[in-house]
Amino acid sequence: MTCLECNKELSYDAHRKAMDRLGVELCEMHQRRIIKLIEINKTPREAIQLYYGLKESGVNAMLEWWDGTKSIDIAISRVKLNIEIDTEYHMMTHEQAINDLEEAMHSFKNGFTTIRIPHVLIKYYLKETVVNILGIMDGLRVHLKAI
Ligand SMILES: [Zn+2]
Repeated sequence: MTCLECNKELSYDAHRKAMDRLGVELCEMHQRRIIKLIEINKTPREAIQLYYGLKESGVNAMLEWWDGTKSIDIAISRVKLNIEIDTEYHMMTHEQAINDLEEAMHSFKNGFTTIRIPHVLIKYYLKETVVNILGIMDGLRVHLKAI
């Protein structure tokens, strides 16, 4: 059990604390950094878990990337892919729906693809979610080469 950021060895207690707090293996220092990020941006816990799931698969992503108008939960700039974690999708109002559609339109215009992932998917299917994102990245890579 080592920190996913700095490879520092984690004790049993430190590991358990990290898993309770964030659900990812991080040392005290790196947990604090993430908790600060969560407090500033209201980042869902699942975004942190997905970010590290992607990192473990060798994906260089960014957490809370500012695109000029808003903060994106996870951005993979190489393939211009933005990932937003939906935490309250079951209570979506029509105002939220049209806002989401407008946001998607703006990012498409800028050459970005936005996918929205319900947080429960990450909770129950983290591995499968990562595999699918890797597939989407492959598709986008081919498409970016073509233009
Ligand atoms: Zn660390």
